[in-house]
Amino acid sequence: MSLLVALVGVALLSVPALATRLAIGPSARVRVACLAAAAGVAVLGVGLGLAASPLILWWHDGRAARGLGLRHLSPGGPLAWLIAGILAGLGSWWVLGTLRYAAIARRRTSLPRWAADSFAYDEYARAEVRIASTSRLVAFAVPGREQHVVISEALAASLSDQELQAVLAHEGAHLRLRHARHLLVLATYERVWGWLPGVTSAVAHHRRAVEEWADIEAVDSAAVDRRALQRARQTLQNDIEIPRSDPTRCGLSPSPALDFVGLALVVAALIAAAGYSATHTVGDLSTALAALH
Ligand SMILES: [Zn+2]
Repeated sequence: MSLLVALVGVALLSVPALATRLAIGPSARVRVACLAAAAGVAVLGVGLGLAASPLILWWHDGRAARGLGLRHLSPGGPLAWLIAGILAGLGSWWVLGTLRYAAIARRRTSLPRWAADSFAYDEYARAEVRIASTSRLVAFAVPGREQHVVISEALAASLSDQELQAVLAHEGAHLRLRHARHLLVLATYERVWGWLPGVTSAVAHHRRAVEEWADIEAVDSAAVDRRALQRARQTLQNDIEIPRSDPTRCGLSPSPALDFVGLALVVAALIAAAGYSATHTVGDLSTALAALH
């Protein structure tokens, strides 16, 4: 049963790579990919943990454990259980490492109030805009408790008012839509599975989709002029990766709802199957544990 949980986790983890081909809007694509990636990592972790759990019973009382049919719970015997445990530990280490790295990176990119040249408050982003006195042409959003948008003095001087509003709306959209969470899931997914072919390019695709999503939100909600956004993006030097394509291009597929509903149903079914198998395995384990006492 634990093997089934792990396999469902692997199936969920393949969804972000497949989702790049979906003819749906960038927001739906990123949401499905991130939900499947987060659920996949969690389900695989639970599956490996459950696959390793008979080791504890076996170690506790090997002779009695032999009669309990532990191989039904997790096939392969003590060596396979040990390998599953090591993989679960290694995976958790990678995930925790990525979360720690993300927290450090956020601290490094933030611009403390005392270091900012001047401030403004952006109503749309509901965040402070901090002007950095640097000659680089950069703009980025820093999420978190003290979320803010950083714009360099040089960039503010290079852009027209309309272009500056477009950049602020784009960065504000990142904060409003909490894109940091999606990017964190994608970073974790890439860290754990980046060695597999196609994963890095799928993650790059979803990162670009996050940028497209912010563009569409800026144009739709903040009534930003699309051409001003295009012009601003040519001035920017940093890698905020605003896509060069027309931001309205996405979401205009022939049957987006059907595609989205189909994939969402597959993800939901996989999560339900994983939940059922996991609870079933935990039930079997508690019966085995009770039998040993
Ligand atoms: Zn952006």
